[in-house]
Amino acid sequence: MSFDSIINLAYVISAILFVFGIKMLGSAETARRGNMISGVGMLIAVVVTLLNKGMSYDWIVSGLIVGTLVGGIAARVVKMTSMPELVALFNGFGGLASLLVAWAELEKVRGIGWQAYSIEMGTSSYFSSFVIYLAMLIGGITFTGSLYAYGKLSGRLSGQAKVFPGQKGINALMLIAVLVVGVLFAWNGDLGTANKLFLSGVVLALIFGVMGVMPIGGGDMPVVISLLNSFSGLAASAAGFVIANNVLIVAGCLVGASGLILTAIMCKAMNRSLGHVLFSGFGATSQSEGDGDDREPKSMSVQDAYYVLEAASSVVFIPGYGMAVAQAQHAVKELGELLEENGADVNFAIHPVAGRMPGHMNVLLAEADVSYDQLVEMDNINPVMPTVDVAVVIGANDVVNPAASQDESSPIYGMPIIEAHNAKTVFILKRGQGKGFSGLVNKLFVMDNSRMIYGDAKATISELVNELKG
Ligand code: NDP
Repeated sequence: MSFDSIINLAYVISAILFVFGIKMLGSAETARRGNMISGVGMLIAVVVTLLNKGMSYDWIVSGLIVGTLVGGIAARVVKMTSMPELVALFNGFGGLASLLVAWAELEKVRGIGWQAYSIEMGTSSYFSSFVIYLAMLIGGITFTGSLYAYGKLSGRLSGQAKVFPGQKGINALMLIAVLVVGVLFAWNGDLGTANKLFLSGVVLALIFGVMGVMPIGGGDMPVVISLLNSFSGLAASAAGFVIANNVLIVAGCLVGASGLILTAIMCKAMNRSLGHVLFSGFGATSQSEGDGDDREPKSMSVQDAYYVLEAASSVVFIPGYGMAVAQAQHAVKELGELLEENGADVNFAIHPVAGRMPGHMNVLLAEADVSYDQLVEMDNINPVMPTVDVAVVIGANDVVNPAASQDESSPIYGMPIIEAHNAKTVFILKRGQGKGFSGLVNKLFVMDNSRMIYGDAKATISELVNELKG
């Protein structure tokens, strides 16, 4: 068996381990092992790649040192609440890496010419130029799109959609331009012209990434985050074609495909089609914050809330981004256990876009060891909500905003929500009058059956725990 065949066999084993690992991530019991199995697959891929011919170990070791330092420091410094932004940055840098791989490969072509390059790679020059442009294009869009998303998630940029007259037309023209430049690049034999076309493509891709994310605001960001995640995989896969590395192609496709599945799930959660998401400047339909309401929210003390909870026979917790900020998940689990001991039926209603990254609430509750049986999806909890004695909204806002079903002018109109307002009593735990990510007014807070319990969610829940413990 030739050395190349051994390498490819090892890559196939890695790919199989990736697939099994990902499958095992689907359940809390097997997720840890799945992560480990995928990690072993990646280790095999890395070791085998390092054994490949023509490796420059000096550069690899330098990259390893710099990467380890940056990654190690980031892991220590970044707060848990900033994880979504960090994930957005990771996606972006994945895209940038693919862009740089494509650029480096073009430099190689410029050194030896298309003909010699095609012979070395065993492909046609059209194919090589196509994948080089593709890796650059998807990578560039992913890079600046993710940086913009990072800005929105971290609050450095406004979460609201940025729209201006003619924006859709400009975006369409840019898309046409970037494709035309790509076709000219792939068809151009002259290396000097190809280089200029490539650099024009880079500039267009970088601008296009920003322009694409700019008009998306409010509650629609989860779709963008998962789409960019998918793009980072597709960019890596294209880079795999550029350098003819099979395992990179497979790993990139896995990320791309799982990102697309996640995008479809997020679209469903937002009640939008992918076509609508991609081409309509979604989230930009209205900048209205929703109708105001003269009524003042009624607040309640923790002590009074305790009396109500103590008498409740069914309680549903609805966690949102504020629970992540407060890091209240462990206290919430303890409160749930005490209420169960007190005879109440306790469940957790999870909205797919609650928090700031897909699966955010599931991760937090799993960290606190909340049983998976207690997590109820939106479609299953809403029909029984009118029978629930107390719905406890913990730092959630947009995902329980009735405007999504009642106010046609609202930017989130049509988004399925957890219908907390249908519960007999609703407790809303938040610090003050802060709005949700979409910046919208929430009429749930002034409804007759709602009571605000102001304060940090963890402090409030801990006080309730103490009351219940007596
Ligand atoms: P929201 O962002 O709508 O609301 C969070 C609420 O938490 C705020 O109103 C805030 O009010 C409160 N809060 C903040 N800190 C605390 C604290 N320490 N204690 C108690 N309350 C606190 O959260 P949701 O989860 O309801 O909705 C998520 C939003 O983010 C949706 O619009 C979604 O589309 C968007 N999004 C989701 C992503 C995802 O992938 N899941 C990605 C990007 C965006 P106050 O300041 O008054 O305390």
